[in-house]
Amino acid sequence: MKYLRPAIAAMDGYIPGFQPSDVSTWIKLNTNENPYPPSPKVVEAILAELGKDGASLRTYPSASSQKLREVAGALYGFDPSWIIMANGSDEVLNNLIRACAGQGQDIGYVHPSYSYYATLAEIQGAVVCTYGLTDLFRIEAFPEHYNGKVFFLTSPNSPLGFAFPLQYIEELAQNCGGLLVIDEAYADFADNNALELVKKYENVVVTRTLSKSYALAGMRLGFAIARPEIILALDKIRDHYNLDRLAQVACVAALEDQDYFRESCRKIIETREWFTAELLSIGYRVVPSQANFIFASPSDKNGKRVYDALFDRKILVRLLSDPLLAHGLRISIGTREEMESTFAAIREIG
Ligand SMILES: *Cc1c(COP(=O)(O)O)cnc(C)c1O
Repeated sequence: MKYLRPAIAAMDGYIPGFQPSDVSTWIKLNTNENPYPPSPKVVEAILAELGKDGASLRTYPSASSQKLREVAGALYGFDPSWIIMANGSDEVLNNLIRACAGQGQDIGYVHPSYSYYATLAEIQGAVVCTYGLTDLFRIEAFPEHYNGKVFFLTSPNSPLGFAFPLQYIEELAQNCGGLLVIDEAYADFADNNALELVKKYENVVVTRTLSKSYALAGMRLGFAIARPEIILALDKIRDHYNLDRLAQVACVAALEDQDYFRESCRKIIETREWFTAELLSIGYRVVPSQANFIFASPSDKNGKRVYDALFDRKILVRLLSDPLLAHGLRISIGTREEMESTFAAIREIG
């Protein structure tokens, strides 16, 4: 169509994981959501903000989300000027590309990881370069001096679940001429994170989301931590009212209820370790996971066969379209009961 930019007309859109409409009839383990509800304090905060008649909704929310920056800053040990809140971490990933990579400039990421980076780059007319993984989960042929504008490192990796060692990430930061964006969507389930590298290197940015570990995928909340110069640039280009009122109060309540948060993560990690051991005991291969999902392969390396058989039993997992990953499945960690049912089904399927 003549009205469109050719690049937009030609591109494929990103295809998010399947969200069934009859969600309560499934064991849903395909998009790494949290099986537990958010903190009860989140619900209280949203109801209080809404009030009886919803009158608060008449007026715009805080444009800066300043309170949230303060709460997140105190929690992670940064001045609020180092933090920007986002309408899901997807928003801030997008704005990092918009701020740093123009038409024809390079962005890079590891394949396999989160292919949405490529979609966001294409919209900007940036050029995408992907780097494979070695058998030991290091980046294949990463240049000694990477000169792209932004390199995205998903750690823990999705869909595989392993985390890059901190020292390795630090070496990448030193070899990166552009920004190194460490997408830590799953870091709350991991032993380590890269926050100290944000303090140490001016080109390191960490992004986080409340979608997984805080059980708030439906609220759309994320944030980035970086030097104030980068935060100021991101503030110029975001939507000025990017977080709605309900999301803002939900975010503060969720971050402030650390006891609830820690207990929810603990249960998921415990179930992950149990489920991994059970799958190993029946001859599956499982990548040791630092996230709230595992990547597992049956001995015949036929992910589709197991996916279909689970689907028939109303258990939804993720089969990735990439032929390199067709040998396995990404399975989100649900409640202990859900994972017991899933394991029983897998044992029956073989
Ligand atoms: C889920 C996910 C995101 C998106 O998080 P939102 O805050 O829901 O936008 C970003 N990166 C990775 C690797 C993810 O798995």
